[in-house]
Amino acid sequence: MTVSLKSLIEEWEGIGVVMRYDRQTGTWIFIALHDDTLGPPTGGTRMKVYPSPALALRDAMRLGAGMTRKWAAVDLHYGGGKAVLAVPRILQGEERVGLLTRYGRLIESLRGTFGTGVDMGTTPDDMLVISQVTSYVHGVDRETGQTIDPGPFTARGVFAGIRAAVKFAYGSEDMRDRVVHVQGLGDVGGPLARMLKEGGAHLVLSDLDTRRAESLAEELGDTEAFEPHTAYAAPCDVYAPCAVGATLNAESIPELKCRVVVGSANNQLQEPEDAGRLFERGILYAPDYIVNAGGAIALGLRSRGVTSQSEIHERVDAIGASLAEILIEASAANESPVYTAERVVERRLKR
Ligand code: NAD
Repeated sequence: MTVSLKSLIEEWEGIGVVMRYDRQTGTWIFIALHDDTLGPPTGGTRMKVYPSPALALRDAMRLGAGMTRKWAAVDLHYGGGKAVLAVPRILQGEERVGLLTRYGRLIESLRGTFGTGVDMGTTPDDMLVISQVTSYVHGVDRETGQTIDPGPFTARGVFAGIRAAVKFAYGSEDMRDRVVHVQGLGDVGGPLARMLKEGGAHLVLSDLDTRRAESLAEELGDTEAFEPHTAYAAPCDVYAPCAVGATLNAESIPELKCRVVVGSANNQLQEPEDAGRLFERGILYAPDYIVNAGGAIALGLRSRGVTSQSEIHERVDAIGASLAEILIEASAANESPVYTAERVVERRLKR
């Protein structure tokens, strides 16, 4: 099936799409506004090279819909939206600043219809550039120029989710008897591995960048680093996917040797049927948007004037309790937690 801009727009159930072609850099800009039931559409800006503009728009739409679920799940008054800058190549220096400035002006022209922050391919420094021309940016203090990295907050939320899932599966949240495989050791996976180690867990690490996994394993001590292609079969209690999406699929699920899956990666299931595949294998799956919302919570609260670190941490840690509720309801209904989480979101959107 061919995907075209026309067919995507005709078939989308979201609010609408803002599109612009940046001639200077050859970049397609897509802002997918999915839902504003709970507040203004808000989501990160992804910068990436795509095979076609249509595939970039499809990504923006899919991610925008994911943001609607994420905000509803954490009960913060924002709506779903996401932006994609489909660049022809990775831009640097003045070219990058030029694109981000023009993109920032586009956001400003929407007068608050869309707010953004970092996502894959963009950095807190990029947000600082955008913040020069618009105030609708999260994670930047425009007065001091200080930026906030959402990664460690996301890691904290995933850690809370892992503890809750481990308690549900094993009856205790004590991590000392648990082996956790952290896949992807970047902005989220790196701090998560450190938190887990501090909590007493035994770690198995893997990353496409094998040197990154080996050096973190060496730094943490008593930790194994696996080659990325063999890592799925690594025996563990918890598999924490913190790299790319779609790692849970018809091929990988039969290979998994874990009891629980909790991680930060967006869109971990390749297709809806993967929820059933995990359920049939008796693997407890924590829906990604429930547990990876820590960064969104932190930046969202900061933008609403909450500066107390302890208050922000408390809200992020509450991800554990939200997940526990979903797991209990799912178990009572004898269904995958994916379906239970969808119902929670639907209830909040209808309130
Ligand atoms: P990052 O780019 O900082 O790190 C990703 C790491 O994964 C890198 O070390 C990379 O080498 C590794 N990697 C890439 N492909 C891999 C593969 N196929 N197998 C193993 N390792 C691979 O990204 P991040 O900010 O840490 O985010 C990780 C995931 O969590 C992404 O899916 C992101 O969308 C999601 N997420 C991040 C945040 C956040 O606050 N940063 C919030 C929500 C969701």
